[in-house]
Parts: sequence; C-alpha cells; structure tokens
Amino acid sequence: MRILVMDVGGTAIKSAIIDDTGKLSDVRTTSSDKNVEVRMEKVIHIAGEYSDFDVLSASMRGQIDDKAKTMLFRYNKAAGEDAQAYPAGEILGKALGRPAFILNDANAAALGEAHLGAGRAHKDFLCLTYGTGVGGAIIQNGRLLTGTRGIAGEMGHMVTHKGGRLCGCGHRGCYEQYASTTALLDSARKFRPELENAKEIFNEAENDLRLRRVITAWEDEITEGLLTLTYIFNPCAIILGGGVMQEEVLLADIKKRFFKRVIPTFSDVDILAAELGNKAGIMGAAIYAKQRLNEI
Ligand SMILES: [Zn+2]
Repeated sequence: MRILVMDVGGTAIKSAIIDDTGKLSDVRTTSSDKNVEVRMEKVIHIAGEYSDFDVLSASMRGQIDDKAKTMLFRYNKAAGEDAQAYPAGEILGKALGRPAFILNDANAAALGEAHLGAGRAHKDFLCLTYGTGVGGAIIQNGRLLTGTRGIAGEMGHMVTHKGGRLCGCGHRGCYEQYASTTALLDSARKFRPELENAKEIFNEAENDLRLRRVITAWEDEITEGLLTLTYIFNPCAIILGGGVMQEEVLLADIKKRFFKRVIPTFSDVDILAAELGNKAGIMGAAIYAKQRLNEI
C-alpha cells in the first residue's frame, strides 16, 4: 500500500509517499495558505501531482473530528465567532476518489513518536508540543485516545491561571498563554524587544540575568501543567516536542523542577524530548491511515 502523507501547516505543506516498508519517497514542500478553503484546494492539487497512491492521510492544525471527517474551526468567542464544522475530510475523499483521513497535527506527531520515535518503549504516554500554542495528545496502548468528538488532548486550554490572560479560545488563564514559546517571547521582549525567537533568548540569557529569570519562570509554567497532567493520567512517559525543546538545558531544567515537586507515588515517569522533529507529523499520519484502514 502506498500512502500519500501530508503535513498541512499555515505556511507550508509537506508531502511524501510512504510505502509498506515505511520508506519515505518523493518528499515535497509547497507553500500553504491562511484561508482554509484555499488550503484544501492546494492539498487536492498537490495530491493530483502524485499519480500513484492508495490513500491520503493529512495532519492539520485545529480541532479535527476525523470520524465525521470535519475540521472544527478554531474560533474566537471574544470576537463573537461561532464554532463551525468544515467537511475537509469529505471534500478531500470526494475529490481524490480514494480514502482520505485527517488528524490534528499534535495527534499525528504523538503517533509518529509512539511507533518510530521517543515513545517506542512506552505503550501509554502524553505528548506535548510547545510552539505558538501548546498542542497535546494522549497515547494509550499505541493508539490515540480521542474522546467523544475526536478532539481530546487539547492540553493548551487546560486552565492554570483562573481569570488570567485571554486566550484565542475566548477564555482566560489557559496553559498555553503561559507555557507556549509565544509566552516566553512576549515576556522576554518586554525589555529586549529585538529578540526574534526562543533560540536567541536562550543564547542571550548566558549574559543577561533578566532573561535567565524569564526562562526560569517559563519553565515553572511548563512544569505546573505537567504535574497536573501526571496526576490525572499517571503516564509512564511524557514526551516534549517543539523546536524549543532542542535546547538541552531546557529539558534538564524541567525534569529537575518536575521531580522536585511531584508526589513521590507519581514519580515513575520518564520525561523525554521528541525524536522525530518535523518528520513526526507525516510519519504519524501514515500510522494513523494504517490503523483506520484496519478498522474499516
Ligand atoms: Zn484557551
């Protein structure tokens, strides 16, 4: 079986073919579009350029109800917008005349890590991705725990600060408003507005005590969320992803903070960095397609 896998982001669409041996071939990167309908047209166009595949599996941002083949738009309650279901999976399936699966990008990354990356040795684990927001996924026995509408694992919207910062979801105090890379950047730019990304913050922190304090406070925010999740799931591992986790000192710091505070009976947990980097999404999409096809 040949699976066309895609990682459909807001700025780029990565695509490739994965065959039965797990080999990745014909890897391409195409520009994406902010408008979801235009983005879907692009996905269909890219798929048309791959002549030989049996099934499409695409990892995407946002809340995705794959069983109903819909993408639930991220909506802004504060701006008076309502949630809408956009039938992305159905549109792709009809246009391509083949099975088409869609799944949330954090879920895809977690599945990739579960079978081919840092989660190989663990049947049950949590996977969190720190970037613009905080994505999350729950792996149970090698499969995604998806919840009643397929959208479980939105750990970024776990409330850690009652009445705190306004989140894109329309509520206040969500974890991602404090633990995302965006939150780190916002704090650092208050006195170092020229800093452009997390890597620069970590580099500059060596000579700037204020930045060091910002990083420490941010690590505490990350740790608070991990502690709560640990008490709920009692996982054997937590895998941390996102480009910022490549800062080696960060993982070590988080582990130090976590194990200092965790209730001892919950301390039998590995905290690991994700291994697959930006390939996690497409590898996970392939695994998801195989799992779903076996269900049909
Ligand atoms: Zn939120």
